[in-house]
Amino acid sequence: MDKKANLILLGAPGSGKGTRAVAICKVLGISQVATGDLFRKNLSENTDLGKLAKGYMDRGELVPDDVTAAMVKERLSMPDVRAGFVLDGFPRTVNQAKMLDDILSELGENLASVIYLDVSDDEIVKRLAGRLVCKNCQAPYHTEFTPPKVDGVCDKCGGALLRRDDDNPETIRKRLKVFHESTYPLIEFYEKKGLLVRVKSEISPKGLEADMRDILEKMGLLK
Ligand code: AMP
Repeated sequence: MDKKANLILLGAPGSGKGTRAVAICKVLGISQVATGDLFRKNLSENTDLGKLAKGYMDRGELVPDDVTAAMVKERLSMPDVRAGFVLDGFPRTVNQAKMLDDILSELGENLASVIYLDVSDDEIVKRLAGRLVCKNCQAPYHTEFTPPKVDGVCDKCGGALLRRDDDNPETIRKRLKVFHESTYPLIEFYEKKGLLVRVKSEISPKGLEADMRDILEKMGLLK
């Protein structure tokens, strides 16, 4: 690695951020920081943060920026992210992106790149319909694109694979609306900073991990 991989994965819900983040972390030996996973963990542990986030998540709305940014700051202050990180699901608004700039400068860190997964809404709906997640370790699967070896069972930890509560047609529509209104402006925000790398969502016959290796190599993050 010739520059520190502090990365953001940007894309609509269901664009494949989670699966790509896992592949990038494996290839570069860095940590995934997924705000949706952090909220779901708090929800399952019934913490105050989980109780606060639940209503927003059930409605497909964004949890308030200050609450989300505080959770991200705490996570980015942990020792494992010093080697680099992939932010998955944060920032989701221009305000959050500005808050992230402040957090990173306080921590003495910089962003290396922002990877934008470019996927059409039609494709998103198809993808979300087949999405599964491990109840235990949150590993992402898809019935068609990245199926588990055994139906309904996580390859990594043996946990049960479930559909997310918010992957229902009504909440999906709301989450896509939120993406277009609040998150899409981030593409221009990071393009202006010269940080944006656009990636098509299709996976080549070489497989997801090999594709991510090629992309990271082109970005100068992998020799
Ligand atoms: P995800 O797993 O990234 O699709 O996130 C699931 C839900 O968690 C979202 O629909 C939001 O309610 C909440 N959430 C995740 N990340 C953020 C964020 N950066 N800002 C606000 N809410 C978020």
